[in-house]
Formats: sequence, structure tokens, C-alpha cells
Amino acid sequence: MLSRRVGHFVESVIRDMTRLSLKHGAINLAQGFPDFPAPEEIKQAGAAAIMDDHNQYSITWGAKELRDELSRKALEYNKIESDPDNEITITCGSTEAMMASMLSIINEGDEVVVFEPFYENYGPDAAVSGAVPRFVPLDDELNIDEDALVSAFNKKTKALILNTPNNPAGKVFTNDEMKLITDMCVEHDVIAVTDEIYEYILYNGKKHISIGSLDEMRDRTITISGFSKTYSVTGWRIGYAIAEKNLTSGVRKVHDFLTVGAPAPLQHACVRALQMPDSYYSDLARMYGRKRKLLYKALAGAGFKCRMPDGAYYIMADIPDGTGMDDMEFAKYLVSKVGVASVPGRSFYNSGAGMRKLRFTFSKKDETLLEAASRLENLNV
Ligand code: PLP
Repeated sequence: MLSRRVGHFVESVIRDMTRLSLKHGAINLAQGFPDFPAPEEIKQAGAAAIMDDHNQYSITWGAKELRDELSRKALEYNKIESDPDNEITITCGSTEAMMASMLSIINEGDEVVVFEPFYENYGPDAAVSGAVPRFVPLDDELNIDEDALVSAFNKKTKALILNTPNNPAGKVFTNDEMKLITDMCVEHDVIAVTDEIYEYILYNGKKHISIGSLDEMRDRTITISGFSKTYSVTGWRIGYAIAEKNLTSGVRKVHDFLTVGAPAPLQHACVRALQMPDSYYSDLARMYGRKRKLLYKALAGAGFKCRMPDGAYYIMADIPDGTGMDDMEFAKYLVSKVGVASVPGRSFYNSGAGMRKLRFTFSKKDETLLEAASRLENLNV
């Protein structure tokens, strides 16, 4: 009954683990959403926008005030110039921005380069849009393997997805890597579709680079981000895509017929979010830096081998030796017997490498992480 398109992928394992977590009363370190409140000013702005009657459809590609404010932010933070009237589309989360982008540029059979490990949505994004994903594994140190990247490009390559900082491994792509990607995209006339949802969550002095800010990439990049992670409002579903006029016209068409528009009052509240002072962003990164250490210590103490991420709010951990269990079995064991939910590594890999890994998020209150730490002390494998 179902289409081949939909038959190609299974339901989200991450959201599945959240359901199991609820069933077992476990601490949910599976899905990346905060269990602490969103900033007061932003919530107030959301409530005020409803009371001020911003309750009807906004312009399909987004409230003008928000596009204007985003254009300023993109120039200041991302170093990307944009015309808010023709080059910005507000979407229902960056999730919709990615899907709308893919649907607007992909023809059946086009190839899309995806670095591995990758955020699990990109597989279904490719399947729904008719793209064939070409996975390029990062090396053991999470650097680009140049030979692997070069050999992934060919005549059929239409786009490359660049998620930096990356979920699940916290990889932050460097200047040199951006240059290499740029050379490949220019040589093969390829569009970069980015996912920069963790653009403010960086550690170890790492700096965020938007590939769309590079001259040669300006007209061949769709820069995607959103409000979910930076402002702890994952349920608001506000994201956006910035791209030159012609690319934007495609994204807008898909967006219009898919959703009509993103939630109108919350778009107004997002204008307020973009006016937060610089200290908001440094405090955010510092807070997550502290949580990162808490979770790292708990995992290392329980026998997981893991590395500190450079960005985003996840830790990928190798399953302790000698369990005899793969990622799925071990994740189920952890959630049901230890009371901690994680995500099986296979969700982020096309190769088998994920079957020895689990992903944990630290986007939780300190007390939640400490409770998870104490449960993990009982890990007995
Ligand atoms: N992109 C990445 C890499 C993510 O990790 C997530 C959420 O976990 C999303 C996109 C979803 O973002 P949004 O809430 O804006 O749809």
C-alpha cells in the first residue's frame, strides 16, 4: 500500500528510544531537547505575541520583522549577506528547511554527499527527495579523509550536506576542510546544504564557520539553522533557510505547499530571541561546557570509551568491552535495567561502525545528569 519512497526508511530510532524511556521510567539521554525552561524573555514575547493577536497565517515565507532581524544576525554572526525579502525563508524547524531544500533541488537519482557519522534525518530526507546518498566516513580523529571525499563526487553529485557542529560526534569543520569542500563543490557544480543548528554551542575555543560566507559558495549554499537549540525551544518549530534568490524561490514553493507557514506568534517571539545580548550566547556555551564534563565523567567512569565533543550537545561512546551486545541490545539493556536511555549508534552510520556505539545527550539539568551518572555506576557488564 505504501509508496516505495516511504518503504525505504524506518521510523526514527531516536524518538523510539524516547518512548521506551517513558515506558521504563528511565532518564532520557536519547533525544536532544532540554529538560530545563526556555529563557523568560522569549517565553514572555511568545505569550505577548498571542495576546497581540499575531494569530493568523503569516506571509508564507515568514514574518518580515523576523526575516529582517535574521538578515542582520546572518551578517554579523555568519558573515553571510542576504536580502530578507528574497533570500530568507522561515520554516517549521530546520527539519522542514532541510526537506524543502532537498525537494527543491534534487531530481530522482541525483547523488548527495553526506559525512558519516550523520544526523539520522538525512537518510529519509534523501529517500523522500529521490536522492542517492553517498556517505563519506570521517577518519578516527573525525577529520575529512580527502581521498574519500574526492572519490564521492561524480557527474551525478547534486548536493553536499554539511552539518557543523555535527550531531552526533560534535565535530566542528575547520577552515581548511571548508576550503576543500568548496573546491569540490565548485569543480563539480554542487550545492552545499548546511545544518548549523548548533552554531552557538562550541567548546575548546572552536569557532563556527558558515560555508555560505565563502565568496565562491555564496550562490551555491543553502544555509539552514533554527531556534530550537540556541534558545531551548525545540517545540516551537521555527527554523530557516538562507540562499540566493533563485534557490530561495524553489525552497519557498515547497515550503508554501508543505506547511503554508511557520507558527505566526512564535515567529514574533523569535525576533526577541535574536535581540539577546552577546552574553546570552557565551553563557549558553559555558553551561553546555559544564554539562559536557559531567556526562563525560559519568560515561568514562562506567567504562565507555569516548571523546569530548568540540560542539553540539552529544557524546558518542564506544560500548564497554566484553558485553557481547551490539548497540541495539545494549541500548535496550541500559534503558530497561539501568534506567538510562541512549540512542543506538547505527542511527548515525551507514557502515557497521555504529553497532559498537551509543549516543548520549547532555542537554539536561545538572541534577538529571547526576542521577544518570549514579545509575550508570550500577552498570554491571
Ligand atoms: N539538525 C540536527 C543536526 C539536529 O540534531 C536536530 C535535532 O536534534 C535538528 C536538525 C532538528 O532541528 P529543528 O528542531 O530546527 O527541526
